[in-house]
Amino acid sequence: MGIIEKMRLDGKNIYVTGGARGIGKSVATAFMEAGANVAIVDVDIDEATKTAAELDAAHEGRSFAIKCDVTEPEQVDAMVAKVVDEFGGLDVAFNNAGICMNIPAEEMTPAQWAKVININLTGIFLTAQAAGKVMLRQGHGSIINTASMSAHIVNVPQPQCSYNASKAGVIQLTKSLAIEWAKRGVRVNCISPGYIGTDLTLSSESLKPLIAQWNAMAPMGRLGKPEELQSICVYLAGDTSTFTTGSDFVVDGAFTAF
Ligand code: NAD
Repeated sequence: MGIIEKMRLDGKNIYVTGGARGIGKSVATAFMEAGANVAIVDVDIDEATKTAAELDAAHEGRSFAIKCDVTEPEQVDAMVAKVVDEFGGLDVAFNNAGICMNIPAEEMTPAQWAKVININLTGIFLTAQAAGKVMLRQGHGSIINTASMSAHIVNVPQPQCSYNASKAGVIQLTKSLAIEWAKRGVRVNCISPGYIGTDLTLSSESLKPLIAQWNAMAPMGRLGKPEELQSICVYLAGDTSTFTTGSDFVVDGAFTAF
């Protein structure tokens, strides 16, 4: 079997959190193009249902939507149980849901701080833990978490201390789980995207005015596109990455290279 064939995901059962739109939707599309079954998990069930219907109609694998808030342990456990029940197992978890708040540190309330940390960091822990329990029982699985280049550098000029801290936490969480589970068949990696054109960046009124500035700062002179994160995730999900665990993959057009 050639390398491209080995990278296919035929028959793999996957869920994607934050799968309704943006990076999650794009990577879910790539997983389905590669032959997988993909559950679209999101708090926004209307958009998730549309995305799942679109993917289900266009590809051989199955897709369906699940409403789940990744900060709610019971909803997370029920989500993973539903994926296992519907698909018959769970091979890959893409824990990707996240939000950003751009608030000066001195003005941020404890509730605002907690919201970002709960979704971006605790949400990744809860989903990785629930997926990990199933994968440890099976003796195999690949978990991919979404961090950010904000884990590596402090983006300017927008103030986003809670976001930066949450994403730095995702990298250490990823490495910790990878080491705990390394001998038990479960791999855990994360991706650290640079600025990507999605609703998170393009539809935020506070961020819109900054896009020209980011483009000027970017070595490639532009934002990334969601589809530019597809291949790294397909690699991490599949069977050609069996020695890859505990790693963080920066995909940022060299933004953090200087
Ligand atoms: P997006 O806003 O386009 O999509 C995020 C999705 O997550 C939405 O569909 C939203 O409904 C869902 N979501 C939010 N809170 C949730 C919760 N509690 N439970 C379940 N789902 C929830 O964002 P995106 O740009 O596609 O970002 C996806 C991930 O990539 C995030 O973790 C983000 O921090 C990260 N990221 C984005 C960029 C970027 O520039 N866009 C860069 C680096 C990292």
